[in-house]
Amino acid sequence: MRITFLGAAGTVTGSKYLVETGDRRILVDCGMFQGLKELRERNREPFPADPSSIHAVVLTHAHLDHTGMLPALVRDGYRGPVHCTPATADLGEIMLADSAHLQEEETAFANRHGFSKHRPALPLYTMHDAERAASLLRPTGWDTDVDLGGGVGVRFRRAGHMPGAAHVTLTVGGRTILFSGDLGRPNDPLLPDPDPAPGCDWLLVESTYGDRRHPAIDPTEELGAVIRDTAAAGGVVLIPAFAVGRAQELMLHLHRLRQGGRIPDLPLYLDSPMAARATDIFERHPEAVRLPPEECRVICRDVRTTQSVEESKRIDAMTYPRVIISASGMATGGRVLHHLKVFAPDPRNTVLFAGYQAAGTRGAQMVAGAREVKIHGEWVPVRCRVEQLDGLSAHADYEEILAWLATLPAPPKRAFIVHGEPQAADALRVHIRDRFGWECTIPKHRDTFELEG
Ligand code: ZN
Repeated sequence: MRITFLGAAGTVTGSKYLVETGDRRILVDCGMFQGLKELRERNREPFPADPSSIHAVVLTHAHLDHTGMLPALVRDGYRGPVHCTPATADLGEIMLADSAHLQEEETAFANRHGFSKHRPALPLYTMHDAERAASLLRPTGWDTDVDLGGGVGVRFRRAGHMPGAAHVTLTVGGRTILFSGDLGRPNDPLLPDPDPAPGCDWLLVESTYGDRRHPAIDPTEELGAVIRDTAAAGGVVLIPAFAVGRAQELMLHLHRLRQGGRIPDLPLYLDSPMAARATDIFERHPEAVRLPPEECRVICRDVRTTQSVEESKRIDAMTYPRVIISASGMATGGRVLHHLKVFAPDPRNTVLFAGYQAAGTRGAQMVAGAREVKIHGEWVPVRCRVEQLDGLSAHADYEEILAWLATLPAPPKRAFIVHGEPQAADALRVHIRDRFGWECTIPKHRDTFELEG
């Protein structure tokens, strides 16, 4: 048996692991590269293995950096099943459609305004490709063994992180590989705790925050302080946020702040049709969400949802303080870009980032203090206050990763550290060596390893 690291090796995006055994090829995750241009260009490269030769795809969760290239894989010949949890299937369908829609919209915009280097600019894939990919999704329950044929099986266990997110055990001829997927945090208000790690022969563990501890800050209060300060200055709080998971978590904190009278009574907007649809899916999947469905409905009551682009533009033109949550979370695309063009130049406003900002994204540039950012081919001055919420994270920090690893019944034969910038991955390697005495491998992009014994 062998494994090839086709993404999330030395970086946090593009998760793709190809497991080959005898006559079977299984792909775990099919993520999109995001952030630095050098990484994004990999999305345009031909898939390293013939897609029609792959027997099954398994998804850990619905985030695009784990699923976003599935439409391209299907366009290029993949016809097999895509196994995932029920919430991942529902969320994956809307996220892939949204990704294709964004692709088509951005290329049309680039072609109209002539700022793309590719003439004409072409989308990575189309809505049609995304629909075909979604038709292959095969939802499976938690804690159930699924037979993929050829002596290969898969089992999903809860990973927290986002609704439907799983850590995945792949069984091949009696041997097991455990993929941590993205690990969430214990005691999250919205999501279940990660299930303990089952025994495995080989392990892949994520390392997004392999070099960091999350500060013990109350995220509700942190958010409230920014809103109070900005409102007092007469400004707007713009929160770029992932539409699925983070947007709902923010709504929960906003609800608590408003209930407790801890922020002024100002309008709260959710400018992301996908976030609104995702909230409906949360209600339909109580098995994947800690918050009861009734409470999901309650937190939505405080927030006005905008659907059309006209409504979205109208909230830019209003002159009073307000809070706007809009996607995407790292300001790499979506409606938030139009809001940034309007709000970033005004010092009364605050742009509040609410999650991990991958290297090379506009979010990372702004958090690092960039005084201007390029949006749609033009430079936009950043004179607003830029803040980041430290108390919110969908990823375990290194102590939380170590606590999860400590639930393994026995050490793996070999552990691979993936899904982290090089510094974070190496820091986790040292933490694991010091705590457990295991020597971990940090694979490089396209490395292949034989898994023997
Ligand atoms: Zn994720």
